[in-house]
Amino acid sequence: MVENSTEKTPDSEFNWKKVEEKWRKRWTENKIFESEFDSNKKKYFLTVAYPYPNSPQHVGHGRTYTLADVHARYKRMKNYNVLFPMGFHYTGTPIVSMSQRIKSNDIELIETFRQIYKIPDDIIPSFKEPKKIARYFHEEIKQGMKEMGYSIDWRREFTTIDKGYSKLISWQFRNLRKNGLIVQGSHPVGWCPQDQSPVSQHDTVGDIEPELIEYDLVKFKFEDYVIPTATLRPETLFGVTNLWVNPDIQYVIALINNEKWIITKEASRKLEYLNLSVSVVSEIKGSELIGKSVFNQLNNTYVPVFPASFVDPNNGTGIVMSVPAHAPYDYQAMIDLMNDNDTLLKYGIKVDIRPICIIHTDQFSSNNTSPAEGILAQYSIINQNDPKLEEATNKLYSEEFHAGKVLPDIDIIGNLSVLRAREIIREKIIKEEIGTTMYELKNEIKCRCGTTCVVKLLKNQWFINYGDKNWKNLAYELVDNMEILPEEIRQEFKNVIDWLKERACARKSGLGTRLPWDNEWIIESLSDSVIYMAYYPLSKFINNDTNLKVQDKVLADDLNDAFFDYVLLGKNDIDIDVVARDSKISTELLERIKNEFLYFYPVDSRHSGRDLIPNHLTFFIFNHTAMFPKDKWPKQIVVNGSVLMDGKKMSKSLGNIIPLRQAIDEFGADPIRLTMLASSEILQDSDFSFDSVKAIRSKLYDIYRTVKVHKSLFTITQNSLDDVELEDDWISSRIQRIILDTTSAIEKFRIREALHNILYLMDNDLQWYQKRKLAKKKSVCNNFLKEFLITRIKLLAPFAPFFSEEVWEIFGKRPFVSFESWPEINDSKISLNSEDNEKLIQDMIFDIQKITKVTKIVPQKIMIYTASTAKNKLYRKLLDRIQKESTANFGVIMKELVNDDEIKDFVKRSPDLVRKMIEDILSESLEVRERRLRMDSFDEMIPLQDGMSLLRNEIGDDKLEVRVFSEDDTDKYDPKQKSRFSRPYKPAIFIE
Ligand SMILES: [Zn+2]
Repeated sequence: MVENSTEKTPDSEFNWKKVEEKWRKRWTENKIFESEFDSNKKKYFLTVAYPYPNSPQHVGHGRTYTLADVHARYKRMKNYNVLFPMGFHYTGTPIVSMSQRIKSNDIELIETFRQIYKIPDDIIPSFKEPKKIARYFHEEIKQGMKEMGYSIDWRREFTTIDKGYSKLISWQFRNLRKNGLIVQGSHPVGWCPQDQSPVSQHDTVGDIEPELIEYDLVKFKFEDYVIPTATLRPETLFGVTNLWVNPDIQYVIALINNEKWIITKEASRKLEYLNLSVSVVSEIKGSELIGKSVFNQLNNTYVPVFPASFVDPNNGTGIVMSVPAHAPYDYQAMIDLMNDNDTLLKYGIKVDIRPICIIHTDQFSSNNTSPAEGILAQYSIINQNDPKLEEATNKLYSEEFHAGKVLPDIDIIGNLSVLRAREIIREKIIKEEIGTTMYELKNEIKCRCGTTCVVKLLKNQWFINYGDKNWKNLAYELVDNMEILPEEIRQEFKNVIDWLKERACARKSGLGTRLPWDNEWIIESLSDSVIYMAYYPLSKFINNDTNLKVQDKVLADDLNDAFFDYVLLGKNDIDIDVVARDSKISTELLERIKNEFLYFYPVDSRHSGRDLIPNHLTFFIFNHTAMFPKDKWPKQIVVNGSVLMDGKKMSKSLGNIIPLRQAIDEFGADPIRLTMLASSEILQDSDFSFDSVKAIRSKLYDIYRTVKVHKSLFTITQNSLDDVELEDDWISSRIQRIILDTTSAIEKFRIREALHNILYLMDNDLQWYQKRKLAKKKSVCNNFLKEFLITRIKLLAPFAPFFSEEVWEIFGKRPFVSFESWPEINDSKISLNSEDNEKLIQDMIFDIQKITKVTKIVPQKIMIYTASTAKNKLYRKLLDRIQKESTANFGVIMKELVNDDEIKDFVKRSPDLVRKMIEDILSESLEVRERRLRMDSFDEMIPLQDGMSLLRNEIGDDKLEVRVFSEDDTDKYDPKQKSRFSRPYKPAIFIE
């Protein structure tokens, strides 16, 4: 959407800093974004995930908040009583570990603070205290939000370590536990060995949520050693033909629970964190194992150990069981080895294995080949380095999992589904101790402290049980009944609900609220941030706001569970007098607080980045269903993609992180807001660049200049009605069309499209309108332009609030465009044929320009011929037929027309013309066809005559002779018989 445009307006003409300051001041003084319970107005409550204050916000952070602010401002103009509040999330370990790094004089961090964040030298030493860090960035972020023009009610601000907030979280956790949703036990979690603490998205480099894989570890035997292999498909144990070992890896012999295991060093370390007692005894080279026979304890058979370089020491135990019939990788590795004479000779081994089929699927089973061999052929895979192998593997695994059945002659699991067979084998190997469970991380993840994370089996840890079946069902119910934008993301939520299990909800360190029944633990950051939206309607009364009178506030110390039960859950069996007494407030105040909550809750819209779907947003859904009755469940979630800088991900290492406040300082808030939103639709990553910011800023300057030039429109009252000409009807109708399209785009969060309408389509309309007036030597300074400009500024107001307020003031309108009503559609101003009128003029000029350019004629005379009445009749018939039957089949239409007496001859005489007319119709949009059908008639003569002044302006001069004839006109000047080529909406042209 970026256009090449040089900046014409210097800051002296439009000073962003002054304008922003002025309006920020006026908004604050007039408290226009402070909203209260008002029984006469519809409310709209929207929230954004609150920021974690461990760094200043950069341009990338701004997108979600800006989107939410646009939404808030739009709803306000739609006459809702909008509540848009903000809090700050202090909970967790990252701020604490940052302060530890400052204490230990970490140069890298200190330099980041100085160079990138521009924090003054005298402040940094105070960061040894975690809360000082949080408070510093808290204020920094808040200031940035104000400078961006976010319409936030700041009276409701809080931090998650405020006492009142902690009271809410304690209440939440006691309730979850009462409902059986908090469990204590041993469960695997992502873990940082350095910090001795679980890790989640907030703690990892690159903000990656750790995903765990659960393997079955199957113990093969070799002499008195255990050789364990990790597998996701234990049912295929019956099909194992050999094991794969990497000959170049150094393995270890480790004493594990009194058995001698042969595994990689990496695996021994992983198993330690899974609470096995591990002591490494000695080392053994992979090559020493090649050719040995190992014992499969499940079916009492011996299989050989073969070499394979694809075996990765970081996966599982570094030893892999081979099932060539059902694993394409194994099959291909087997073939590759058979053909590798050097290796065979080197180890003195012979490979004569036959794949053992154990699973049947209709799609992949055959009499001659194994499923793996079949699919390799299908994908034409020739060796084990082929990237298509991955895809083939996924396809076969998925098909066998969903549609596979174990062959009848297989022991124990014959004839069972793959799913059931897997459960049985898993149970059996664990019971008989020929296998166990092993966890590892799906991808390598690093903690922010730099340490590689592992999976730890945590004992006596507190978990929120997202694996609870009934709870999952409630979460599905909420997802099914809420609005999710964009709609395509709904399934992603269901997938997350699907796989979520127990999740560690407390840690031993960090900032936050202590578990109410076990004081050693602190509730972690993705668990204390799921129902806090309910605190916003209350926080106004709990804040230490000095403006609040004593009788209007409740002290955090005096809050208790009964208070929250009464206010948030409206429990009936509670004695209001007792609640008021225990909270040391009047019953009147208690009722006021409750009414405020009942009025604003539920959340109407929750905004967040797409990266929070696998955790925060889904936990938000879960916890609302657990804590609140259905009428308090959230109504909508809006998810957006992230922001790229010049096409690249923003990161410290790339040095392309631009602090938000710095960008505002340089370019102004509105150009930044618009650039964030205009470069892509909501789910895509948007590409931010300062070139786009400049282009958009100069677009705003253009609008400003147009308003200034026509300032008199707004200061002098224009009483006289203007003479209404074709282009006036048209611009008037276009305004309605833009309102209609922009409103529906905003409703569906197609923000890019909305901005395209306001910034670019409206520009095109205005330019055309000005050209037409200029050609007629008439002024555009009229009521139509006035309406156009007023509408444009109103539409722009949610997106560019500072700019719009400033222009609104030039209009002489008061006091705030922020509180104007959103433009309504006025049907009476929609003119059906005005669009065709102007289109016809445009096309005519364009066609003539094309002809003169090609033929290099300097025209003296231009003759234009409109189609005959008979052709027009035919056009309407064709249009009607195509629309009704929705057929574009030329043959069908022709057949029908030949039977129509009225036009039979016509069709017979010139089938080519009919074909062209059908093509004309089909090339128009459905909307245009519909519109033309609704018009009784359309006289092309009128616009063509009207547009003649512009045609002369564009093509020649006043002396150019231009005439318009109808084809039916017997007196027409038509020396070359051109008029017979005319078609409706496509006049014929003759130039000489
Ligand atoms: Zn760490």
